Amino acid sequence: NGTLYVVATPIGNLADLSPRAAEVLGSVALIAAEDTRHSARLLRRLGIEKRLLSLHEHNEGGRIDQIAARLEQGDDVALISDAGTPLISDPGFLLVRALRERGARIVPIPGPCALVAALSAAGLPTDRFLFAGFLPAKEGARRTRIGELGAREETLVFYESPHRIRATLAALGELLGARRLVVARELTKTFETFLDGSAETLLACMEDDPDQARGEFVVMVAGAPAQAGESTTLEARSLLNALLEEG
Ligand code: SAM
Repeated sequence: NGTLYVVATPIGNLADLSPRAAEVLGSVALIAAEDTRHSARLLRRLGIEKRLLSLHEHNEGGRIDQIAARLEQGDDVALISDAGTPLISDPGFLLVRALRERGARIVPIPGPCALVAALSAAGLPTDRFLFAGFLPAKEGARRTRIGELGAREETLVFYESPHRIRATLAALGELLGARRLVVARELTKTFETFLDGSAETLLACMEDDPDQARGEFVVMVAGAPAQAGESTTLEARSLLNALLEEG
């Protein structure tokens, strides 16, 4: 049987496509892509001429049998999305779950992922983080979600579009108070920027320079301060340690 390769592609800078990704894309029998026209351009630049099969959120379920049949014939298939790692706020989960249930061989070809790139350079704690994808589009649901996440101590990570970046920053500032935010914009592209500060500061930056509100964003928020309960446990533990050392 063939293998499904889940292949990460660049999030802006084409040079970030790994040699292994290029090799796999060149060797598979079929590439399933979110937007076939967009991916055809990427493949042309790599000198790869290949049949593409569209696989997006509206037809993913219907593609499963088709791709499974190709794998059963012994063909290798690659899955790519428009940018970054498939399945990360992108299609592919239904396919990968179904194929794994059927015992198919599935191999990741790791590479660019906006949330990982953003965290790696933000200077917020990364030992624990909570990736919350896109916030809901509707105002009420967005506020509820932000409220739910407000007590989490992990660094919060969101994806955001230029249409809603200001509204999201305003809601984060209003509902979570004065927390440190880092917004990574246009990662790996010419106008990559990191803005750092309170929601209010970042909104003021966007007011001064509207270009700062254009492009693609990863919004990261410092986690909530540790709960009183936990710090008490910590204090109790250090007291215990001190007593044990004395003894
Ligand atoms: N699968 C992708 C990944 O691995 O990061 C994410 C796809 S999701 C549909 C698109 C969102 O990812 C954008 O709205 C933005 O929040 C984030 N994103 C993608 N590329 C980015 C970039 N170059 N700079 C900042 N954020 C980016």
